[in-house]
Amino acid sequence: MTEKSGDRALVLLSGGLDSTTCLALAVDKYGSSGVTALSVYYGQKHKKEVEASEKVAGHYGVEHLSLDLTPIFQYSDSALLQGSDRKIPEISYSEQLKATKGSPVSTYVPFRNGLFLSSAASIALSRHCGVIYYGIHADDAAGNAYPDCSEGFNKAMNEAIYIGSGNALRLEAPFVKMTKAQVVARGLELDAPYKYTWSCYEGGDEPCGRCATCIDRAKAFELNGAADPAIEYYRALASEK
Ligand SMILES: [Zn+2]
Repeated sequence: MTEKSGDRALVLLSGGLDSTTCLALAVDKYGSSGVTALSVYYGQKHKKEVEASEKVAGHYGVEHLSLDLTPIFQYSDSALLQGSDRKIPEISYSEQLKATKGSPVSTYVPFRNGLFLSSAASIALSRHCGVIYYGIHADDAAGNAYPDCSEGFNKAMNEAIYIGSGNALRLEAPFVKMTKAQVVARGLELDAPYKYTWSCYEGGDEPCGRCATCIDRAKAFELNGAADPAIEYYRALASEK
């Protein structure tokens, strides 16, 4: 492929399942030299995701950039962030939403994807990328749990970025209409390196198995009749300690 401006893709890579599947898709289409991965640190209580993203990017041999947006989130009381006393709930998202009655869940980080995408847009243009991939999916937007993962949000941000970049850059949210189980099915087809991925909200040596994202992740693999390779991978790492 000839490399000209706009021929490359930037992928927001958190180190979880969805963004890793996004990276797998982008590398499949653009090749590893045509992809830049961007990981954003935002003051999470642990760095497991960042470590996972380094392994995933290393697996594909793509350029890997990181960005620290912690100062912007210092006023947030999201349960995911340092400084918050809120406990991460040990029930599924659907159970949490019954309690919040349509408001975002306690692990929502205020306008996180809006900030991530705006920052990514600036970097993408500097790296001659014509598209930003990110891994939002339908389960996250369901019931307004994470409103910045919705189709409406994606459409509006895509329009803003397209116009604001002089029609040079657009968003690609390949899983916006998919469930997490469908995302995993796609990643398994592409042989995405799921063993490295980290989804758990807690920062233990192994995934806790009790938080909402651990519950969702286990269900997604189960629906595909597949074992989650990360369980064995992190258990082995923990036993070496
Ligand atoms: Zn967990």
